[in-house]
Amino acid sequence: AWDDSLDRVADRLRRIFTAAQGTSTFVNLDMEEYHDLELTIAAFTRVLDEQPYRADEAGIVLQAYLPDSFPALQRLVEWAGQRRRAGGGEIKIRLVKGANLAMEKVDAAMHGWEQAPYPTKADTDANYKRCIDWVLTPERTEAVRVGIGSHNLLDVAWAHLLADARGVADRVEIEMLQGMAPSEARTVRDERGRVLLYTPVVAPQDFDVAIGYLFRRLEENSAEDNFLRILGQLQPGTASFDVIAKDWRRSLAARWEAETGRRRSLDRSRPYEPVGVAPFANEPDTDPTSAANRQWALDAIAAGAGSLATPVTTEIEVVDRVVDAARRAQRGWAALAASERRRTLRAVADELARRRGDLLAAMVHEAAKTIAQADPEISEAVDFARYYADRALELESDAAAFDPLGVVAVVPPWNFPVAIPAGGVFAALAAGNAAILKPAPETPRCAEIVAECCRSAGVPTDVMAFVRTPDDDVGRRLVTTVDGVILTGSLDTADLFRSWKPDLRLFAETSGKNALVITPSADLDLAVADLVQSAFGHAGQKCSAASLAICVGDVYESPRFRRQLVDAVESLVIGPVVDPATVVGPTVGTNPRLERALTTLDPGEEWLVAPQRRDGAEHLWSPGIRTGVAPGSWFHLTECFGPVLGLIPARDLDEAIAIQDASPYGLTGGIHTLDPREVATWLDRVEVGNAYVNRVITGAVVQRQPFGGWKQSSVGPGAKAGGPNYVRQLGVWRPDAEGDAERDDERWLAAALASDEHWWAVEFAVDHDPTGLFCEANVFRYRPLPRVGLRAGRDARPVEMARVRAAAARCGVPVVESTVDDETDADFAARLPSLGVERVRVVGSVDDAVRAAAMAARVHLADAPVTADGRVELLHYLREQSVSRTLHRFGNLVSGG
Ligand code: FAD
Ligand code: NAD
Repeated sequence: AWDDSLDRVADRLRRIFTAAQGTSTFVNLDMEEYHDLELTIAAFTRVLDEQPYRADEAGIVLQAYLPDSFPALQRLVEWAGQRRRAGGGEIKIRLVKGANLAMEKVDAAMHGWEQAPYPTKADTDANYKRCIDWVLTPERTEAVRVGIGSHNLLDVAWAHLLADARGVADRVEIEMLQGMAPSEARTVRDERGRVLLYTPVVAPQDFDVAIGYLFRRLEENSAEDNFLRILGQLQPGTASFDVIAKDWRRSLAARWEAETGRRRSLDRSRPYEPVGVAPFANEPDTDPTSAANRQWALDAIAAGAGSLATPVTTEIEVVDRVVDAARRAQRGWAALAASERRRTLRAVADELARRRGDLLAAMVHEAAKTIAQADPEISEAVDFARYYADRALELESDAAAFDPLGVVAVVPPWNFPVAIPAGGVFAALAAGNAAILKPAPETPRCAEIVAECCRSAGVPTDVMAFVRTPDDDVGRRLVTTVDGVILTGSLDTADLFRSWKPDLRLFAETSGKNALVITPSADLDLAVADLVQSAFGHAGQKCSAASLAICVGDVYESPRFRRQLVDAVESLVIGPVVDPATVVGPTVGTNPRLERALTTLDPGEEWLVAPQRRDGAEHLWSPGIRTGVAPGSWFHLTECFGPVLGLIPARDLDEAIAIQDASPYGLTGGIHTLDPREVATWLDRVEVGNAYVNRVITGAVVQRQPFGGWKQSSVGPGAKAGGPNYVRQLGVWRPDAEGDAERDDERWLAAALASDEHWWAVEFAVDHDPTGLFCEANVFRYRPLPRVGLRAGRDARPVEMARVRAAAARCGVPVVESTVDDETDADFAARLPSLGVERVRVVGSVDDAVRAAAMAARVHLADAPVTADGRVELLHYLREQSVSRTLHRFGNLVSGG
């Protein structure tokens, strides 16, 4: 969004400079985040070069903790000299060390990028001195006045002496923050005759903003390495003074040595370096602070994604042939060593990464995704390939044997047109299945490129087939003839598939109606920012999108909250996605639900921001916010899948959680509060697969936040995508023939219970955070199902029943039992809908009547053979949850937040 952002920042500057003209106001551009550095300099120089502002004087700040700052200083001095010689005004450059270090560290850790600032304070100190030393000459200060913004008395004193010695004292000003070190400021004033003090000025209604600012300054100035902490020890002749002086001299001596220029090396215009089978690490997203990367993205979408080569299949016979060929080819694939499948999938990952540009273009053009939304999805696809490749090695167990299902159809949605098809295909392949990828009709090219990557990395053609079918009898044929179906789509589609075949092995991730709870203990600024991003990223067309904000207590009526929200939503850039400035693009079609959500209010509801169709474009809507959404109302409970957000008031946190949990879905959910007790209460009770605390509720990353929902948001065994159990569920675990046959029942049962204890202790009772970020906890954990049905069908052996009862008990899950001796399959089928369970563990065999009843009642029949492996059996009683929790505020770590 570079050019457009530049235009907008420049516009803003023009207005500011115009207002300042003819007054005594001096405009100075402070510097905050690294990603704004180049933009700020570009806007500053552009506008000051324009005729109405050529004579204006204005200031800009450079942060010495950035190695980019020294070259930037040189460029600015050069430019200012030219401007001055052409009759323009002078500028001021304030040199500071940089106050945003903590957030820069967070930004780098979250993205897997190098940190933008220097790694050590010694480097920063050295570079600060280099900048001062370089700029303080009569020639370089001709058009530039220099501000030394620092409380480091040694640096200030040195700059002061240097300025005197070089005859430029009148071009240098020492600048400090009002109230931060008053005695120091007085001393400097007495010595130099003048010191410039800064203080924030805000309107009374924005007083909390000033508090926030002051708090951050205090936090920073009391940080470990900060000079103000040692100011009191500055007694010449003492040991501590000698240490301080020595360090200072060392940084002075090193001032020309610290590296300059960008620290981040990721450059998409260079050829991709394959990673192969190296240990898993998340693939980094494209870093937009690099001009080369921005150009790469624009070139990629201009070049397009190549044309679609696969025609739509309109005949059932063709589908049958593809399935047959896949079935034959699958045996060879499954017979490969797991390490061989892993190697091939790792090669697919490299191939996808190499074709990032094509995938980006396909998503922008086919799925109306913005560059910012599309790019991370490619990283996710690459991660899926590597992560699932590694899981292939875990399918060997002493206590059970694993057979792949056979042929698995992957049926993805259009809204994540690369990562979701990729994830399904790679998981199926890792488990030893053949995969048939049937893309969403809207986004075939995105999926076709994934298929091309599989081929070029060596997956045999029939092992990974690509077929485009319409959503008609041909599509139905595919779904009903394969051995397993991975669907990601709406609950309606899952229900349709279930109605076609009672014994369909369906693994579906379905709809969501996701809410973010905001309590009066939240930081409202952060809550609003996260809410808007969660609600309107990809025009709200994410299954994880926030569609509701449940506002606790006075948050709901808070003018401050509403003003921020409206302001944030109204400033979203709406337009076509080929324009990199766009944040909200068009919806990919509309459905009657979305149409209703965008146009019709229910009793008691009002528009806080009314959605509007843009410029006659059928699918381009500006986002809408409805207030007064009542618990139990249509909007509360219906997935609308587009740019509409509803606000629901709640008296207290209890009521908010009740409203959140009233949804039939349980995909994502969030809370914003700084009160650790509220976080604990919420985490204990919220019924969602992905729970987010004090952050956006979208954007799951493989391994870091395995993704998938509870309740009606998931169909089948329910392992999360990008998590440790996803590959394991795409096959059948059966008793290990050799091991089990030798044992008598009693010993078998004892071994099973011992295995349960073991896996309970090392896997299921444990919070897992394999990513281990310092700034965000990402805990993957298991929660017991509220209750589970237990059906002893024909041929169920008593020892197996004893084994599954014990497993349920180990997990603390109550069971509702039924046996074929007490109740026929037909009677059980009739009773199923009223059992109040979402899962039934089936031992032995049951009729299709039971299967059909379960499908209709949306109950999962866990009918896998009973094994002695606790790693396999205990999963039937548990559901998985990912809890992601921000651990910092503005980069500073907080406990319990
Ligand atoms: P010192 O203690 O000498 O330096 C502390 C600084 O060293 C830290 O702030 C950090 O920049 C750096 N540092 C510390 N540890 C590390 C490490 N491990 N690795 C790398 N670097 C490290 N800051 C801005 O970002 N933008 C502004 O626009 C801005 N305006 C300011 C205006 C004034 C008048 C003043 C006084 C400060 C301003 N600051 C601004 C804050 C400034 O950047 C410093 O953060 C602050 O002054 C502390 O630095 P120091 O030189 O006073 O103290
Ligand atoms: P959809 O249900 O309309 O389609 C999903 C897939 O099913 C497509 O490939 C489609 O072609 C196929 N399909 C539908 N009817 C079919 C038929 N009769 N025969 C054969 N195939 C058929 O969903 P969509 O509109 O593509 O995507 C949006 C939906 O997906 C939303 O409900 C959203 O919540 C859900 N979704 C869920 C997740 C998740 O992880 N839970 C992720 C993304 C999207």
